[in-house]
Amino acid sequence: MSTRVVSFFAISLVFAATGCSGAPDDAAATGADESSSEEALSGNYNRQTVYGWAKSRGADAPGDLLSANETKQKLVNALGWLYGYNAPRFYISALNSDHPTRDGAHGHNGGYCADLYAENSGDMLALIQKINANPNVTQVGLGGAYKNYVSHVTKPHFMDNNQTHVHISVY
Ligand SMILES: [Zn+2]
Repeated sequence: MSTRVVSFFAISLVFAATGCSGAPDDAAATGADESSSEEALSGNYNRQTVYGWAKSRGADAPGDLLSANETKQKLVNALGWLYGYNAPRFYISALNSDHPTRDGAHGHNGGYCADLYAENSGDMLALIQKINANPNVTQVGLGGAYKNYVSHVTKPHFMDNNQTHVHISVY
């Protein structure tokens, strides 16, 4: 077993023991630990770790996170980043298999998107601000009450349906 693999598992174990404590599990391998800026914190997150966080916070189909066929690694990274970097508590209302409509190869059904909502409705803006800072997210959709915060979104965005949620895409 290589040193790289050993350190990967060691760090993963630390994550498993401490929960949402912060850094991507291969930060050392990517050099992301050399900077404290959020932009640099874009290393790969362990699927099992992010699955555990999603399951503990409430998610309709967190098992999608365990499959590369269901969720792209970059989406795992986007969610891991939110859990790890002090985003307000949020739920995942749809990943892929539980998305209510078929939205194509570059959408939820391609494994590139998640729908989220803040546990506390007073945290909508704070969640959007963390999504703005998330280096993995490429596009944002605003649904329901989140539409009221459109002026705060700094990434490419669109208006989604009337269900209160924020859609993130990594495609
Ligand atoms: Zn969506």
